[in-house]
Amino acid sequence: MAKLQKLSGNENEIESIESSTSTYSGKRTDYLQWDDYFMATAILSSKRSKDPSTQVGACVVDNHNRIVAIGYNGFPRNCSDDEFPWSKGPDKKSLENKNMYVVHAEANAILNSNGTRLDGTRLYTTLFPCNECTKLIIQSGIREIYYLSDKYGDKLIYRAARRMLDAVGIGYRQFIPTQKQIMINLDETN
Ligand SMILES: [Zn+2]
Repeated sequence: MAKLQKLSGNENEIESIESSTSTYSGKRTDYLQWDDYFMATAILSSKRSKDPSTQVGACVVDNHNRIVAIGYNGFPRNCSDDEFPWSKGPDKKSLENKNMYVVHAEANAILNSNGTRLDGTRLYTTLFPCNECTKLIIQSGIREIYYLSDKYGDKLIYRAARRMLDAVGIGYRQFIPTQKQIMINLDETN
């Protein structure tokens, strides 16, 4: 967590230091860009999901590039992953359908924001938000959405989501990473 706070300090201050020293400081040039960093954080969060078919991660960032909320799709607190179903069951209305229980990544991020106001923030999510999450996004004050995939975009719930976002003027755009791959070696010691 200390590392996150260090990286997410005052953006203007950091940029002015970088620009004033960039020609001779010898700084790294292959450092992680902010947007890649936030989407990578959303992806990393999605790795926590127990869902065998869809792992989604979300990361909410404020105007100072501080991460204020993170979430992934999972069951409510104390609803055991070993007791509740991760399958779709025989049909949508079955008690054995995971959708009866799962909290989506965007909703979890908003709920996990520790009381921080989310007005004016932006959301990085690995999957375009559904209509239910979109309601929470609007009500929480998030103003911009960056998503990686929109693979279910034709489904009714995603069309409803876009309808609401368009109506209230929340921007959304597909995220194109500048860096296709980020390697993290947990064994790194330097
Ligand atoms: Zn959702």
